[in-house]
Amino acid sequence: MTRNRHSSAPSLGPDGFASEAKKHLGQNFLHERTIIDKIVQAVNPKPGDRLVEIGPGQGAITFPLLDRHGELTVIEFDRDLIFPLTEAARAHGTLTVIHRDVLKVDFSALAADDGHHGEASSPSGRTIRLVGNLPYNLSSPILFHALDHATAISDMTFMLQKEVVDRMASGPGNKVYGRLSVMLQAYCTVTPLFTVPPGAFRPAPKVDSAVVRLVPRAPEAIGIRDREVFARVVRDAFGQRRKTLRNALSNVCDASALEAAGVPPTARAEQIDVADFVRLANALTT
Ligand code: SAM
Repeated sequence: MTRNRHSSAPSLGPDGFASEAKKHLGQNFLHERTIIDKIVQAVNPKPGDRLVEIGPGQGAITFPLLDRHGELTVIEFDRDLIFPLTEAARAHGTLTVIHRDVLKVDFSALAADDGHHGEASSPSGRTIRLVGNLPYNLSSPILFHALDHATAISDMTFMLQKEVVDRMASGPGNKVYGRLSVMLQAYCTVTPLFTVPPGAFRPAPKVDSAVVRLVPRAPEAIGIRDREVFARVVRDAFGQRRKTLRNALSNVCDASALEAAGVPPTARAEQIDVADFVRLANALTT
């Protein structure tokens, strides 16, 4: 039992963690050992890696990662979890806790600001590796936030709703292919790793989950001239996905611009691939 039980904290369980999961914070705590081991294996930390976990919760992934790697930064928004997490981490390694909304954490600054100047550095600068069983209500905003800092991130291993992972990894012609697929695949390689059943969590979510690895691509490999133009074209194209591109993108360009970019004006967004979107956005970038 932890010593520091302050009045505003909920009742604490024997391990010092609050017993009630908070739905509004997307708290589904992982307890299935085999799944935790598979996540740690998938992350496979190497000496010098700078691991950052989003939403450590009660430490299901945190402690095994600390045991394996010795050092970890975590970002947690729930203040009731901060103290027990820090206390419990003492025996496992060095834990740095950032008590903040992850959407307000500047990953680029985090990558730039540390004491590691040696083997952790990538050729293009210092980078972090993100890990997390994400709060499902925030998974898309977190993914887009990470994309904004993609050059500071060497890879991401995330647990998400399986349906979201399917969307992220799908291609043209697939009914779940959409904005998330194009945005993620433009900036990262997306590799679904394994599915996780609801029973692996407490409380159990209603849907299957899946673990996915995202590896940001080098900016020159991506070839997008203007990220905002690209984001707008993709958003508008899928905003009216049943319309032809000529109609869906009428605020952005006309049929001749589509033709000039090699994109059929009568095609729909769900029929064209990431390279088509990049070519079109670049053609519209002055
Ligand atoms: N990693 C733990 C596990 O696997 O059992 C907990 C995962 S739980 C699905 C999501 C975690 O994200 C919770 O601990 C929750 O408090 C935290 N969280 C929710 N919103 C957050 C935010 N905006 N910023 C940081 N953490 C957040």
